[in-house]
Amino acid sequence: MFLVTKIKAPVLTLSFRLGDQLQAVTILNRTMSSRSSNPGSVVAPYTPPEWARKLQYVPSYKLDLSMHHTPVHKWNIPSISGGFRLSIKRDDINGGPLSGNKVRKLEFLLADAIYRGFKHVITAGGVQSNHCRATAIAARQHGLQPHLFLRSHTQNPHMLDCVGNLFLDRIVGSDIYLIPQRDRYERDIKPKMQRLADEIQRKHGERSYLIPIGGSDQVGLFGYITQFQELIEQGVMNRFDDIVVTIGSGGTACGLAIGNYLTGSKLRIHAICVCDSPVYFHQHISDILDQLGLSGVKSEDIINIIDGHKGRGYGISTEEELTFIASVANTTGILLDPVYTGKAARGMVHEFAYNADRFQGNRILFIHTGGIFGLMDGRMEAVMMKEESMGNKVYDSIKISMFNSTE
Ligand SMILES: *Cc1c(COP(=O)(O)O)cnc(C)c1O
Repeated sequence: MFLVTKIKAPVLTLSFRLGDQLQAVTILNRTMSSRSSNPGSVVAPYTPPEWARKLQYVPSYKLDLSMHHTPVHKWNIPSISGGFRLSIKRDDINGGPLSGNKVRKLEFLLADAIYRGFKHVITAGGVQSNHCRATAIAARQHGLQPHLFLRSHTQNPHMLDCVGNLFLDRIVGSDIYLIPQRDRYERDIKPKMQRLADEIQRKHGERSYLIPIGGSDQVGLFGYITQFQELIEQGVMNRFDDIVVTIGSGGTACGLAIGNYLTGSKLRIHAICVCDSPVYFHQHISDILDQLGLSGVKSEDIINIIDGHKGRGYGISTEEELTFIASVANTTGILLDPVYTGKAARGMVHEFAYNADRFQGNRILFIHTGGIFGLMDGRMEAVMMKEESMGNKVYDSIKISMFNSTE
């Protein structure tokens, strides 16, 4: 794959001998000498957990973009049946604008781009992509120009709105290229990204780092290999039987499954699809296992991919799904998003009720992968206005006597 060449550049070998700190400084200077007005945090050498060292590819560098060791706590969704005890791992609060699972992937992807001297980052996703938003913000913070290919209903820039993730993409000055909804990544989008990179190279003599949809390649994957180590440190192995996560492009679930497999942990990993199919994801994960030199194991052996909860399709919401999100928010204070975690959490609750045997035990950890800005893309409003169903009450204080008594 084009993204991952094993770099054995002289600088790298040399700086290993110079020691970690000096190496970090060298890279910082290199970043600052670009057009960057804000060097952001420092690219530092990455040491993988012991159990991940045998992988054929291990990134050499990592950026610190988010808070780690996010909380794990109980999550009492009222409607849960079957004696399941649910907890939640809060990767939705690992940062502000830079929050969610994509940030963990970007810690490796952008480190790779910065270390290798790229000046532009090109990626793609839906018009409300969390991945694109996180990439754009992190790229800007580190002096790289973000270019986003966004699948959109309209190809007319003047018809484009400015809410949710897209607002953030725009405020940090991304170059946005609208592409049709039906465009497929390998067939249509990747060639366009490559053409843009060639054009930038020709015009400005600067190189562009291409990140696939969702950042789910073998570099980005390390975000969740690292998270698995964090889970171990948080004692999750003994406290839970099953982990449930959303799967959209596969990197998050794949990283967790690899961690679970390599450490010999007894947890079972379940991934709930919000797009594509289990066949597609097993193939994608098997390819990554091959690339990492784990060809003895198949995706089917290390992860359970659950279908049946996509609803009307990727990014499309039903009123029931939005109502579920609102009711979880007004009973537990946890904010799910309409594209990923809302569907996955609703699917999980459904599985508790109708397919309880799928789980090894009843101590379940749901990994919240973020998506807060997608919740504010405008689609929840109609549901919230139905105040009686949502428990959100708005009063006209003039008509309430206790506020108007003269005593
Ligand atoms: C992208 C995303 C996912 C899916 O993660 P993948 O690694 O792409 O499978 C889940 N939740 C949220 C909020 C996301 O943005």
